[in-house]
Amino acid sequence: MNPPSDRDIGLRGKLIRGLGSLREMLPGSFAERKRSCGQPNCRCADGKNLHSQFQISVLVDGKPKALNIPAELAEKVREKIEMRRRFESAAATVCRLNLKRFLKDKETR
Ligand SMILES: [Zn+2]
Repeated sequence: MNPPSDRDIGLRGKLIRGLGSLREMLPGSFAERKRSCGQPNCRCADGKNLHSQFQISVLVDGKPKALNIPAELAEKVREKIEMRRRFESAAATVCRLNLKRFLKDKETR
């Protein structure tokens, strides 16, 4: 069995190496809204078969914006926003491991 610190180093390396695969990440949050288009003959006119409108809410130059996303890009964009969550989760874990090591180091000085 490896000592815990070796396992931490291994995990840290794995997380850092995995960050490259998240390089296409996008900021913001993804939302799907239902809406009617207003055309009287459209399938959405019954108020049930509504159109999907995909949006991301994001800060642009510090200002909150809702950007419309074409339906054909929605799944890609959703994944890229999910990458950001995984990136931040990995960063938080790396920081936690490093802090643990730092505090331990400090103790044994
Ligand atoms: Zn419609």
